[in-house]
Amino acid sequence: MAESGRTDIVLKGIGVSPGINIGRAYLVDGGRLETPAYCYLDSTYIQLEIKRFKKAVQESKDQLLKIRDRLLKDGKGKEHISIIDAHIMMLEDKMLIEDTIKTIKREKVNAEWAIKIVMKEIREFFDSIDDEYIKERGSDIDHICDRVLKNLMGKRHETIADIKDEVIVVAHDLAPTDTAQMVKGRVLGFLTDIGGKTSHTAIVARSLEIPAVVGLENISQKVNAGDTIIIDGASGLVIINPSKKVIKEYQKKKGQYFDYEKLLHHYKKLPAETQDGRRIRLMGNIEMIDEIPSLIDHGAEGIGLYRTEFMYLNRKSLPSEDEHFEVYKNVAEKVTPHPTIIRTLDIGGDKFLSQIELAPEMNPAMGLRAIRFCIKEPEIFKTQLKGILRASVFGNIKVMFPMISGVEELRMAKNIMEEAKEELRRKKVPFNPKIFVGAMIEVPSAAITADIIAKEVDFFSIGTNDLLQYSLAIDRVNEHVAYLYEPLHPAALRIIKHTVDAAHNAGIAVGLCGEMAGEPEYALILLGLGLDQLSMNALSILKVKKLIMSIKYSDAKKIAKTALTLPTADEVEKFIGGEMRKLLPEEYAGTDHR
Ligand code: PEP
Ligand code: MG
Repeated sequence: MAESGRTDIVLKGIGVSPGINIGRAYLVDGGRLETPAYCYLDSTYIQLEIKRFKKAVQESKDQLLKIRDRLLKDGKGKEHISIIDAHIMMLEDKMLIEDTIKTIKREKVNAEWAIKIVMKEIREFFDSIDDEYIKERGSDIDHICDRVLKNLMGKRHETIADIKDEVIVVAHDLAPTDTAQMVKGRVLGFLTDIGGKTSHTAIVARSLEIPAVVGLENISQKVNAGDTIIIDGASGLVIINPSKKVIKEYQKKKGQYFDYEKLLHHYKKLPAETQDGRRIRLMGNIEMIDEIPSLIDHGAEGIGLYRTEFMYLNRKSLPSEDEHFEVYKNVAEKVTPHPTIIRTLDIGGDKFLSQIELAPEMNPAMGLRAIRFCIKEPEIFKTQLKGILRASVFGNIKVMFPMISGVEELRMAKNIMEEAKEELRRKKVPFNPKIFVGAMIEVPSAAITADIIAKEVDFFSIGTNDLLQYSLAIDRVNEHVAYLYEPLHPAALRIIKHTVDAAHNAGIAVGLCGEMAGEPEYALILLGLGLDQLSMNALSILKVKKLIMSIKYSDAKKIAKTALTLPTADEVEKFIGGEMRKLLPEEYAGTDHR
């Protein structure tokens, strides 16, 4: 039992994949190895250590190849496989292999200790980069090194695929390769000491719909195998060895959650239409193809935002035109007849790619980012555009440019797209010449000049994650100013309204694909402001649809109008909370000012 038989130990972590489950703990040794250190080795031993190290690397590669084969046989998606491929590639990484061998020689230490030294150096490098996503990639290095260390030390690798009972997996950390092997139903959830929302592990958990809480700091030390665990993947709450009373309470909550999910599924086939006939298109955001089945299962009417950056990650070379084409064709075929909006590469700011070296910048969020980078590197941009264009004959594909700040920038992007079209024409490669082109409206200057930009695109998609960052001057990844990141700030509401009106005056559709779209209370205002489309994660779609179906558009417009008169985000929030309680009393009755 955990901590000398205590019950009801409550821990709070980061909920990265929703759902409630109660089960027995299954401890997976995800790291935390006590590494032996031997120093001042003589030359014979140094040669032996190098040999041992090379053998352990080869064993690690063989194990990963085996997992890869098994996943392929199980028919798992390509994204899972590519994560394993990335890990195999890391085992061939010069920095890791050669530096470890050099360290064995230079420091005259054993292989285990040398790996620790090199791992620390690489980790420090990743940690020094002020970027959540890159920091997470550093954890891939940890997984690889741990595997090599275990092989050096003769430790067995627990494989999650071998789990027979229904359990909650507890680990210091899990590699995406572990998560990819999890089977829903057998793995009731997982808990880790470290991790964040943007880690591959979290992304895979969401796509497999397995409840998960990460960032629990030391849960792997607090829990013993067989302990009873409650996991609430939405709130990030974990209870170790709950009392009978708490178990009963959570069984009830789980039942309610299950009933709620089931009830929401009634909405799957129903149109997202207000009671007076305003139809909204609810779409999904994806980073990887594996997320598509879950989106379709939740009734998404297309993909409103395909963040293609994921295609460029965890690899040494840039994707080729053919690769782009194959991936986009695959996505479009899965989603057709619904549309797929492919956003072109959005690198820079808080997203970096290993193959593209960007100069350090004082203000990367305002630097060479997204479309600015693509205009500067037209060949990289054209390669992607040609892939998109070629795929456009296989489904309803639209292109969207990120971070457009004004019409001139839009024109430059469109000119490069024309060049891409011309190159395809010359080679007689088919594409849809009338492919829709849209602009993301996420920079205030674009929102303010939306009437000008609207004349030269087929649609808008408002990216509130960035639009809020730039309008309110709040770094979206800085936890110290997070309290000022207010989606209901009067400035945010006005700027959204202005953009929607500009789009409608020009006769084009306008969607919104920032995180705001997936919260029913925000969606209420967005509906009233006149948005035509909302794009969000799979698990939010039915909640938002229920909200839309519970109200008349005329009433939503009145609510938005009143909200626009209120002076502070807090007052808007209180007002909206009151309206939500009236509309959906069973869900919002217990909330005071939501
Ligand atoms: C946004 O900025 O709102 C958006 C959807 O794009 P991203 O979060 O990828 O920057
Ligand atoms: Mg953005």
